[in-house]
Amino acid sequence: MEPCSYTISQAHDLLKKRKLSAEELLRSCIKRVENVDQSLNCVVHRNFDSALTEAKKLDTSGNFDSPLSGIPYLAKDVFCEKGVPTTACSNILRDKDYLPPFDSTTTKRLKTAGAISFGKVNTDEFTCGGSTESSCFGVTKCPWNLERVSGGSSGGSAAAVSADECLFALGTDTGGSIRQPAGYCGCTGIKVTYGRTSRFGVMSYASSLDTIGTLAKTVEDAALILQTMAGKDPLDGTTSSVPVPDYFSSLHTSIKGLKIGLPKEYFIEGADPEVIASVRAAAKIFESLGATVTDISLPHTTYGVATYYVIAPCELSSNMARYDGVRYGHTVPHPENLLDYYERVRSEGFGAEVKRRIMIGTYALSAGYFDQYYRKAQKVRTLVKKDFEDALQKVDVILTPTAPTPAFKIGAHTDNPVQAYLEDAFTIPASLAGLPGLALPCGFSSGNLPIGIQLIGPQFREDLLFGVGHAFQQETDWHSRKPKL
Ligand code: GLN
Repeated sequence: MEPCSYTISQAHDLLKKRKLSAEELLRSCIKRVENVDQSLNCVVHRNFDSALTEAKKLDTSGNFDSPLSGIPYLAKDVFCEKGVPTTACSNILRDKDYLPPFDSTTTKRLKTAGAISFGKVNTDEFTCGGSTESSCFGVTKCPWNLERVSGGSSGGSAAAVSADECLFALGTDTGGSIRQPAGYCGCTGIKVTYGRTSRFGVMSYASSLDTIGTLAKTVEDAALILQTMAGKDPLDGTTSSVPVPDYFSSLHTSIKGLKIGLPKEYFIEGADPEVIASVRAAAKIFESLGATVTDISLPHTTYGVATYYVIAPCELSSNMARYDGVRYGHTVPHPENLLDYYERVRSEGFGAEVKRRIMIGTYALSAGYFDQYYRKAQKVRTLVKKDFEDALQKVDVILTPTAPTPAFKIGAHTDNPVQAYLEDAFTIPASLAGLPGLALPCGFSSGNLPIGIQLIGPQFREDLLFGVGHAFQQETDWHSRKPKL
């Protein structure tokens, strides 16, 4: 087994015993990137030399006490790292590489814990999408089938983890961007409670929904990473001061007597029968571990997609206003006047999907339409949130598929963005409610494509989700299957 395919726990054990060096581990990941990334297109910026310097420093110091010390990872291309090009996979920042003068809180905390960032991975432009097809670097392919998407927007992160290019990757999740690609690529992804992790230094999409999380090979690894990432950050006023529990010890809690709810709105006709069958089989495994499974209802689920696709574009349109080509990013020569400058910078810099959303958002926020769309959407959002509150009085966690289908073909939705938006139907509701969701592999389709489950829990109960997910991974081996590349 090559070191790049280790889990964090396996690598940590060997690093600590000095049976593996941080440099060997990193070189193994770099070699893997060099061997497979030409066909996958995950890595959009390589930071290998400075990462190797870090690894050598760690080897000399011999300090491998922290579980993340010497662990190589890749960051979605929206995490600012000082001096490292960060583009949100948009021409508006790529043209004249944006070099952040500071670190995001997450990458800073990881650095303090000894983790080594060695590159940036692909995302849909400004994380708008579910396939990486809107990236200015082109699509990331699914490691299980190169004709299919890896999902998105954290598709580069999910594919890189599943292909063993790194030990873990950072992602962001606004409406499903960690959970859906985790499902498509067969890895584990945690979307946290809104406010659990700091967003400082991460490029925004929709500020009332954005969360920072991670994609990993196992639930155990995800718990170790979140331990370092989570918690109050003075630089992000939306982070919560709710104490961060010890995620590692919560992995070993028994799930006997745990109540799991299956919401009937997620087991509908439009969903692929193989997906439904795999999720039901997962429910059986939980039952065999002593949990009770009951049917529940989340009646406003059907309004989730429409609600989200008003709120998210509105907030995007406001967040994108800062990209004006004046302070950084794309510029154009010889403008006639300021307006001409803005128009040309933004029409050349932004891609079609981001433009579409800026237009929808600006329209829905304009005087006269605000009440009709944005305010109305916020009201429906409250109803969606209330559905979960009611359901979580009756059950401890909710079990659903991560997406209605396995990874779709590249280009399948190019002519029909609304069809693409429907792929998010199962991840959006928990995002609207600000709840944590854990995605993990639960099977394969007859075409050998991964299928994922999502566990949704109460606010700030990532610990509970980790416990339930870990119990599942102790009983199954879906998470240890590898794509042939
Ligand atoms: N696919 C969803 C969208 O396009 C979710 C994206 C995300 O979570 N960043 O908005």
